[in-house]
Amino acid sequence: MLCQSSDELKELVREAKKCAKNGRVANYIPALGKANPTDLSIAIHYPDGNCVQAGDIEKKFTLQSISKVISLALVLMDRGSNYVFERVGMEPTGDPFNSIAKLETMVPAKPLNPMINAGALVVTHMIKGITVEERFQRLLLFIQDMVRDSNISYCKEVALSEFETANLNRALVYFLKQHNIIQEDVEHLIDLYTKQCAIEMNCFDLSKIGMVFAMDGVDPESGKRIMPVDVARICKTFMVTCGMYNASGEFAIKVGIPSKSGVSGGIMGSVPGRFGIGIFGPALDEKGNSIAGIKLLELLSQNYQLSMF
Ligand code: GLU
Repeated sequence: MLCQSSDELKELVREAKKCAKNGRVANYIPALGKANPTDLSIAIHYPDGNCVQAGDIEKKFTLQSISKVISLALVLMDRGSNYVFERVGMEPTGDPFNSIAKLETMVPAKPLNPMINAGALVVTHMIKGITVEERFQRLLLFIQDMVRDSNISYCKEVALSEFETANLNRALVYFLKQHNIIQEDVEHLIDLYTKQCAIEMNCFDLSKIGMVFAMDGVDPESGKRIMPVDVARICKTFMVTCGMYNASGEFAIKVGIPSKSGVSGGIMGSVPGRFGIGIFGPALDEKGNSIAGIKLLELLSQNYQLSMF
């Protein structure tokens, strides 16, 4: 069953929005603290180009952790899966996204998976290119290709705000550098990573990226293969096992859609073989997921039987 009507979607948004008041916008990156907690928007993108949207769909937001799936796809193409998984693991963790705890007890100090910050920093470190600028441009081009929009860029204010306050991420990089998992200059990597997290779009754009993953790496509208099938499959698997921070298990049971969230309140969903979803709702729950966004996905999944399980 498909949701084809924006009236139906508007009704679900109205219902889900009620719980936004129970969440709080992220403020550890000061520039994110300015978001309006009651915003909620969604776009569902179908392979035939049809898109159903509801809410404040023009609002832009930064990808934050959603970018981790995209940088992983690029790095898997750049380096191959053997190289990548020698340096970052495949196992979910119950720890918060920015935790350093497990690294200290792991021998070697290999991050558990690419969706926690330690693992994502190792992935970003592996993006090929000589300079930070060249590596960032390669990532941006990859995203522009998926969205089919060469205007996609990053928010300088959010990037700077995070760069100035990313001391926990610096600590992770120093730790990984000490253990020879990362070799580059710490400030260069933090610069690249904070720009990556600050890549900005609206939920319509995000739903297109979700659709490319859903369609096994092909953009069905242009027919272009953006990434190999196995890369899309690996990314979707991580979305299921660790895409919603340490709430991924509960989310898999209640929603059952491969998804990745970010602290800006974005969620990208990929319903395998069917469609992509982009959501923005900046009020977060205690695990760091969009509180109204999760509610909206629960309603959608129940109403249209979207669970893959
Ligand atoms: N820029 C964020 C950080 O590394 C991304 C976190 C997130 O969205 O979970 O702290």
